[in-house]
Amino acid sequence: MEKIVIVGAGVAGVNAATKLVDNGYPGELITIIDMGKDPYKRKPEEVMTGFLGAGGWSDGKLTYHTAIGGQLSKYCGEEKAMELMDQVITNFKRFHPKPEEVQCSDPQAEPDFIKPYFGLRLFPVWHVGTDYLSEIGKNWYDYLVSKGVEFYWESKVTGIDFQNNQLEIGKKMDGHFLYYDRLIFGVGKSGIDFAQQLAQQYELPDEPKSVQIGVRFEAPQKHFQKLIDISYDFKLYRKFEDKGVSLRSFCTNNNAAYVAVEETYGDHSYNGHAKKDIRYRNDMTNFGILMEINGIEDPFTWSREVVNKVQANGTGLYYSPSRKPSTTSEGNNVTATQISLDTLTHVVEPAMEGYFKYIMDFIMDMKKVFPTLQDDWGMYIPEVKYLSPEPLVDYNNLSLTKYNNVHFVGDALSARGITVSGAQGTYVAENILEQLCELKDGSYI
Ligand SMILES: Cc1cc2nc3c(=O)[nH]c(=O)nc-3n(C[C@H](O)[C@H](O)[C@H](O)COP(=O)(O)OP(=O)(O)OC[C@H]3O[C@@H](n4cnc5c(N)ncnc54)[C@H](O)[C@@H]3O)c2cc1C
Repeated sequence: MEKIVIVGAGVAGVNAATKLVDNGYPGELITIIDMGKDPYKRKPEEVMTGFLGAGGWSDGKLTYHTAIGGQLSKYCGEEKAMELMDQVITNFKRFHPKPEEVQCSDPQAEPDFIKPYFGLRLFPVWHVGTDYLSEIGKNWYDYLVSKGVEFYWESKVTGIDFQNNQLEIGKKMDGHFLYYDRLIFGVGKSGIDFAQQLAQQYELPDEPKSVQIGVRFEAPQKHFQKLIDISYDFKLYRKFEDKGVSLRSFCTNNNAAYVAVEETYGDHSYNGHAKKDIRYRNDMTNFGILMEINGIEDPFTWSREVVNKVQANGTGLYYSPSRKPSTTSEGNNVTATQISLDTLTHVVEPAMEGYFKYIMDFIMDMKKVFPTLQDDWGMYIPEVKYLSPEPLVDYNNLSLTKYNNVHFVGDALSARGITVSGAQGTYVAENILEQLCELKDGSYI
């Protein structure tokens, strides 16, 4: 039997450990290390760290579709992916103090009025309830402890020696080294710098990534109300398979919706957020129109260059046939240089190397689907997502192609949500159990 160390007590790591002990793997051989706190000590403001990681104080929405929440079916196929996500949802219900209150919303049909121009992504979502997550965490933690799993809290892993199977824990246990036979690495977004540091140090090969670039679109909410009533955070999409481009509306904000300026690598790009307080209500809607472009050799450099080309006066651009840039919730103008149609045609289009026409087509078709929209809209240019490198793994068990006893899971690999992260952890655990099966002729012990 192997000594398994899990770095990160997040959704992925906890689901992996649960699958193992549920199937008879001795908890005494599993150690989970986390830089945050156990669920009894974790405070609500500790959003990203501690038991269940970012999932522990999240919105508690468990999405149930392989096209949402990052990559899963790529590794294991559609059917297996759904089955793995089921297991994660079952775990959340199992440790929920009132499982009967976990509700599923499952919109069934795309509204006719968006056809034939757009598809609308429809997917079931299980609502766990943010306020129950802490109780779930405590019940789940108690179960793992009762099975003998060892936890190191407030212990940040500062280095991993993949060649000699040991890791270093800084701070609290200064200079402490821990040996592992098998490592599950699930550090989530809060550990993304650490993951990148390891990728560079060990020259880990990574997956080719797509470019994710576009604009932040903004308009009065009334034009989109018909769709918002069906799907609050609607996801319109369309694909041009032959051109390697797909487009989607992304991260819709309504009611009290503000455009936010982001600074990345010294340039401005845009995003959006919605405020809850009624005082901030401005009856606006904003969402990203993002293109996913495949086949660009160095997506990161390409995106950075495009972003740099669509700057003027030290900030990003704003184009509208009729409007001015909006104000922030503090009443300041959103920082952007307003441009003419001529500049759009002669600066933005060439900067995006011909891809910008897909965004314009998307907007023109929205005008057909939402007839009151007409020229009452604006767009902030650019919105960009720099995807962090995804280490290349063996699709059968998510182990690094260079170190087959080290498995990457969750947001540290390619997930972007609770169900997919948990499912990746479960997938790795199943593979470990299967290996033992082969060794021990059906018995794990
Ligand atoms: C505010 C918020 C709301 C969200 N809402 C939703 C939602 O409603 N639905 C949804 O599907 N997704 C949501 N997400 C995303 C979701 O929480 C994550 O995708 C998911 O938790 C990722 O799981 P993970 O196990 O990969 O990482 P995490 O759950 O983030 O866990 C990683 C753990 O690793 C630990 N760690 C990191 N580095 C180290 C280190 N060097 N040493 C030791 N420990 C380390 C951290 O302390 C953390 O506990 C939300 C995220 C946030 C921040």
